[in-house]
Amino acid sequence: MTEKTKYIFVSGGVTSSLGKGIVSASLAKLLQARGLSVTIQKLDPYINVDPGTLNPYEHGECFVTDDGAETDLDLGHYERFLNVPTSQANNVTTGRIYQSVIQKERRGDYLGKTVQVIPHITDEIKRRIKLLGNTGDYDVVITEIGGTVGEIESLPYVEAVRQLKWELGQDALSIHLTLIPFLKASGELKTKPTQHSVKALLELGVQPDILVCRTEYPLGTEIKQKVARFCNVAPNAVIESIDASTIYEVPLLMQKEQLDLVVMDKLGIEGLPSADLSHWNDFLDKFKNPKTEVNIGLIGKYIELRDSYKSIKESFDHAGARNECKVNVSWIHSESLSEDNIERTLKGLDGILVAPGFGERGTDGKIAAITYARENGIPFFGICLGMQCAVIEYARNVLGLTDANSTELDPKTPHPVIDIMEAQKKVENKGGTMRLGAYACNLAEGSKVRDVYDTDTISERHRHRFEFNDAYRSQLEAAGLVSVGTNPESGLVEIVELKDHPWFVGVQFHPEYKSTVAVPHPLFVDFIRAAIEVKVPEAKELSSR
Ligand code: GLN
Repeated sequence: MTEKTKYIFVSGGVTSSLGKGIVSASLAKLLQARGLSVTIQKLDPYINVDPGTLNPYEHGECFVTDDGAETDLDLGHYERFLNVPTSQANNVTTGRIYQSVIQKERRGDYLGKTVQVIPHITDEIKRRIKLLGNTGDYDVVITEIGGTVGEIESLPYVEAVRQLKWELGQDALSIHLTLIPFLKASGELKTKPTQHSVKALLELGVQPDILVCRTEYPLGTEIKQKVARFCNVAPNAVIESIDASTIYEVPLLMQKEQLDLVVMDKLGIEGLPSADLSHWNDFLDKFKNPKTEVNIGLIGKYIELRDSYKSIKESFDHAGARNECKVNVSWIHSESLSEDNIERTLKGLDGILVAPGFGERGTDGKIAAITYARENGIPFFGICLGMQCAVIEYARNVLGLTDANSTELDPKTPHPVIDIMEAQKKVENKGGTMRLGAYACNLAEGSKVRDVYDTDTISERHRHRFEFNDAYRSQLEAAGLVSVGTNPESGLVEIVELKDHPWFVGVQFHPEYKSTVAVPHPLFVDFIRAAIEVKVPEAKELSSR
């Protein structure tokens, strides 16, 4: 709709964790709701080539795209807000930039020249930024620069922004996100950190066009004017970003502050209708006014850092809103669970989700939780390692194969019900052995999942090394754990479900990566529906006592 692609750069100052990702996604949502086609890209200034090898405690969840890129969790927000898939091009790290430059150097592409940060690294950054714009698919590309301005790591990125702003003129603008802290002792909002942060940007040659100021209290015109005066921006380009009760409210707050209008004005975008956020508002309305509630136990081993399960938590929120139900998540450490305390810890839960994960730690607790859910008719949802644990649990406790295991957890198990595929065994490089990204899956007729998805073929995203071992399929099926989803090409089992149980589903893939505000994931929606259903008779019983 715009003649040329417009570029918006979002940087952050003062502190990290101000929510650049959410502000970027909210702005993108507003522009999208006006009819523009928008994508968001994240540039991460660390040296890892991608976050795939990072411990979740370091960096939260690793998000996975359809094309199999292991990315920053902000891409999850972008997809949840925009309902448009992202790809490898949407997440670039310093490691990847250097990798490309060094590869070119080895190939001799630089014709014997000295390879330097400027222009070679900055040119590669600029190329990556423009890659999305050059597809012709987008009116607006929003590029979020990770980290905080002033850090050594982010210098080449800010330099690339400086050059691009110069080259693109009115087709580019820079938004700087800062903090206006409230000092309790003096009862005042303080603008100095913002002034300093803008100064740091100016020293690098970038004049921000818009300042988005995070604050716990309303800024008022006086503070806005003060910030404007000190930072060379128009007062209407000082946008208040006040703490919100949910991230999904931020687009509305940004709309109230007219962020989209200021952006369009500066980029010379005219004649667009106002943003239609009616679906978004419907969702928020249901999310904030639930008619019922359920308690779901999320069992994992990284629960100290909630960001490790970001997409799962957000999927619960989407599914909760769809069911007009508040989903209270109890975060349960799998290592804290044992057969002795299982009843005590899990009692009162209306549903149990066993999370994805890697390695042996905490798997006994996960398996004990699955036995409890299975035997007590509590809705159970197993994702990736959670599904694998469900298969192990069934093999051990129902088939009587006491030492059944995954070869990831016990390489010497006599019953490898979860095993590595022959074809994978040869690949040694850790980053390269995973099944990553979207794969098709056929759903068996008459299965619960086929009903839930309401279709016979689906596509879901994967991130794992180990697989359901087909050698045990018929034995497990005869005992009631049925393989109801399979990959059409390889025949690999992707979904198992239990016949005589209110809701017991294990999936080898990660449905949480595909749940969005506009399209909550059907499995999450139905899991919550089942949790409500299982809970209701109990509540009735109580009230009739
Ligand atoms: N560790 C398991 C595997 O590699 C499961 C991975 C996951 O849960 N994402 O197969």
